[in-house]
Amino acid sequence: MPTNSKIFRKLEEWKVKEDVDPNFIEFYRRLLRIQSRAKRRIGIPKPGLSSRTISERMEQGLPLVGFNDIAFDWSLLQDIFTEVTGAFATYPELFGEFPQSLKEPESRPSLSREMVKAWFEGASLPSLMEADDVSEHLLEAIIHATLNPFLVSYSKALLGRVNQERWRRGYCPICGGNPDFAFLDKERGARWLLCSRCDAEWLFQRLECPYCGTQDQDALAYFTDDEGLYRLYVCEGCKRYLKTLDLRQAKSEVLLPLERLFTFDIDAQAQEYGYSPCDRAWARAKR
Ligand SMILES: [Zn+2]
Ligand SMILES: [Zn+2]
Repeated sequence: MPTNSKIFRKLEEWKVKEDVDPNFIEFYRRLLRIQSRAKRRIGIPKPGLSSRTISERMEQGLPLVGFNDIAFDWSLLQDIFTEVTGAFATYPELFGEFPQSLKEPESRPSLSREMVKAWFEGASLPSLMEADDVSEHLLEAIIHATLNPFLVSYSKALLGRVNQERWRRGYCPICGGNPDFAFLDKERGARWLLCSRCDAEWLFQRLECPYCGTQDQDALAYFTDDEGLYRLYVCEGCKRYLKTLDLRQAKSEVLLPLERLFTFDIDAQAQEYGYSPCDRAWARAKR
């Protein structure tokens, strides 16, 4: 995991070099600060999973962490939710229509267990009782940012216990989330997926779509940029795309979770061609 100072330096360079909305970078920086404080408060959890339970879950295709396995500190979670909502509310112009109920600190709703569970399991979200002007999309983004430090802590605690050669599924072995980025490793050019929710990395075959599972070679393709550093994998089966970085071509140090942001132009291009990014749904539930 990259250190914070490196991340902030990289963001600063990005702000100078590229044509990016500086407000977006300010927003992201604020979010990172909230999340890294939260990570320090959460620490590394010690999930009581025996080796036997782990191999059984792996065998059955179950992610290691189910909702009931997470020992949430609900008051900490609520604090983070409030801080994250505050960060979103400070830069409302980044999110289109911004609901009034989230703007005022006094009227900000609280996060229920039911809501967190629904988000975690990819079910549709119950509405925020006091605030029905909040779109599901915005709410998802806020919950995602709130839960990230918790899920990342589980990923740190458990990823070493995943048998990478055996898992090889299209969803995260830790939390069941969808991948939203991938890389080809330096050693063999093997493809690894990056979880959109907990940042876990796992090994996956190159010639299969992680979203719909097709192995039909006529449905799968990829494009590369001029330097061959980035690849855009696309699937005609489900019309989704996956951004990928080829580490064999990387000349400087790569900070993977940040690469999601640095590659917004690739997203724009992919969407222009008619492909969609992964959705947040708990991938396993769909299979
Ligand atoms: Zn995950
Ligand atoms: Zn597909």
